Amino acid sequence: MPDSRIERCIELCSRARGQSGDDLTRTLTTLQQILQTLQTEEFESEEPVSLSTAEGEDWRHEPIITLDMNGYLTSWNKGAQILFGYSAEEAVGQHILFLYADEPANGRSEINELFLDQGNPLIEVRHRKKSGETFRAILSLHRNLDDNDEAVGMTAHLSLIADQLSIAEKQRLYARLIENSEEGILITDGNERIVSVNPAFTRITGYSASEAIGKTPDLLRSGVHSADFRAEVLAAMHGAGGWQGEIIGRRKNGELFPQSVSIGVVRDRDGVITHAFSIFSDISVLRAAEKRMQQIVNYDSLTGLPNRTLCHQLAEQALATARRNNEYGALLVIDLNRFTSINDSLGHEVGDELLRQVGQRFQDALRDDDVLSRFGADEFVVVLVSIHKHEQGGLVATKLLAALEKPFVIDSHALHIGASIGIALYPDDGLNTVALHRFAYVAMQRLQRNNESGFLFYSPDMNARSREKWQLEGELRRALTGHELILHYQPKVSLRSGNIVGAEALIRWMHPEQGMIPPYIFIPLAEETGLILDLGGWVLEEACRQIRSWLNAGLEPIPIAVNLSARQFNPELPKRLLVPVERHGVPRELLRLEITESLLVRGPEEVIPIMNELVALGFNLSLDDFGTGYSSLAYLKKFPITTLKIDRAFVIGVPDDENDCAIAQAIVAMGKQLRQEIVAEGVETQAQMTFLRGLGCDQLQGYLFSPPVTAEAFEQMVREGRHLSLN
Ligand code: C2E
Ligand code: CA
Ligand code: CA
Repeated sequence: MPDSRIERCIELCSRARGQSGDDLTRTLTTLQQILQTLQTEEFESEEPVSLSTAEGEDWRHEPIITLDMNGYLTSWNKGAQILFGYSAEEAVGQHILFLYADEPANGRSEINELFLDQGNPLIEVRHRKKSGETFRAILSLHRNLDDNDEAVGMTAHLSLIADQLSIAEKQRLYARLIENSEEGILITDGNERIVSVNPAFTRITGYSASEAIGKTPDLLRSGVHSADFRAEVLAAMHGAGGWQGEIIGRRKNGELFPQSVSIGVVRDRDGVITHAFSIFSDISVLRAAEKRMQQIVNYDSLTGLPNRTLCHQLAEQALATARRNNEYGALLVIDLNRFTSINDSLGHEVGDELLRQVGQRFQDALRDDDVLSRFGADEFVVVLVSIHKHEQGGLVATKLLAALEKPFVIDSHALHIGASIGIALYPDDGLNTVALHRFAYVAMQRLQRNNESGFLFYSPDMNARSREKWQLEGELRRALTGHELILHYQPKVSLRSGNIVGAEALIRWMHPEQGMIPPYIFIPLAEETGLILDLGGWVLEEACRQIRSWLNAGLEPIPIAVNLSARQFNPELPKRLLVPVERHGVPRELLRLEITESLLVRGPEEVIPIMNELVALGFNLSLDDFGTGYSSLAYLKKFPITTLKIDRAFVIGVPDDENDCAIAQAIVAMGKQLRQEIVAEGVETQAQMTFLRGLGCDQLQGYLFSPPVTAEAFEQMVREGRHLSLN
């Protein structure tokens, strides 16, 4: 051991006590440099070095092993030999599983997944020694890269857990955590001087350790925050209590960046603050992705008008106002006549330009408070609020029709176009946007069927559907008690190994006369009538029964995801969920829950505690249909979610549609920042798979591998070890 360096460190430390300013900085920099050389040597040292003290033995003989990408051991040091009792000859060439006390849930495939997953550098496992004795340890994994940055293997450092840890081991573990953290870490002393930063700090801010040490955190000050806000942050650094939030920082190159920060302090025995630390991550990727998604998700790219999603939100807000003020509202569905034939005969470019101009004229004809949006091809929707009389809906429709009278001149064509407008009234016809849209649409179709331009108010007798609906509801009740419902299972495959790593349970209704009724027909109906609670209960019971039956039959345990409706997501849920889980003795990690952002309508204050409770019980949550809902990252970050499922809507256009690619890319980037597993849904083609895999998606679910199939067929697939070819 190069004792002279240690002595020099001690000397520098005592010198530092009496110093300040630049002198202190210089001393600390030297100190840090020496410490770094010591640390590197010790991490790299594979050679057994004999030392006299017991502490030294521990420190030197850290068990280090290397593996190839398939999990087979390629080297085994002295520390590993001492710990496990196997010699290098016995160990090298074995699969790492031979050291495990328990076979992991998914066998080898899961081990491979873990090893390849950068998000999980630390894993806790139970090991078995040659003597048979077991112990718990933390595996800290690093990839070994070749010159092309391709992973060629892994190095694993082992540390014993908890009370078995020596002080030296603890220190080493903490040091490694700090060094390897993806988050920037900055530590200041009692005088607010930076005394230590980690490599991620340098990566994010651009300042090297020597540039930062000795300065105050003002180094990163952006100047955009108010004095109050700064005082709050400063108070946290002075020990006012833990603080978490978002701060805009400034990099060395002057660029501003948003960071998500936690601040805390360390006190000595007398309660005096000796250090403060700030742990932060650069969330600029998140912000950029959020902005881009908001744009793509909320606006129609052709006309720049709000799209269906945003219209829905704006309309709901407007209706809430109308409700408070006892006012009327109206929703108009406008469908252009003859648009398809213009589009077909004159080409898409003319069609697109026509839609843009129509949008413009409509906008000019409306008040600022009215909500105009484009819903689909040639369908526009207008929501009128704060109207005092019903007739105003008709007046506005007349105005919109008049706006179309003058011909549209495009590419020397003078185009005449008419429109059919259906109108539904709030509160008479419906209380929410969905209902109003449905009824206005019925009225519009009535006009269109007769090829008429003009407008028509909805009337209830137009709605023959409601009778059918009523009948269906009765039948669905019967289905629940009879044996007409079954679950199908759609496999999810890993994009790393190609193996089946999970499945989603999807409900099917086998109607005795009508054959199979797809869920998009009866789920919304069940939601409307409240039957979804019973239906959801049945799904949970059936999924748990199936999982247990597979376990009993010796099938490899595979997590099964079930879909939860927003209505099921109430404070009773965790309790109700436990009933079938316990009845069938289902390990909780085998039941996953898919939820959508629609449950946010209940408000995050109500929803997040339920989520946390579910997670605390050991259930994993996936966010379904991601990208189609509110998609606010501010919420997303607060959700204890492990998986994001990219909606099929964005997968369809990949890799040809630029917008879809941008969204898919943004979602994956975001998911990675949040350390979430990303599943792409509805993948049908090899090209989609290749693109999504290239982005770094973790899993795939879609017809490319398999549609949803019966439980028997799924079991067969797993037994055969069917897997997706990734080439
Ligand atoms: P989801 O949760 O987004 O489920 C995925 C849907 O995409 C399934 O439709 C599946 O069959 C379909 N799909 C999967 N891969 C592909 C593909 O490659 N191409 C295409 N075109 N489609 C693909 P499904 O089974 O008709 O379910 C529709 C929706 O009904 C589900 O959407 C979910 O929202 C709801 N649902 C299904 N089962 C349940 C349930 O048990 N409870 C609740 N609350 N909702 C359910
Ligand atoms: Ca789902
Ligand atoms: Ca979905």
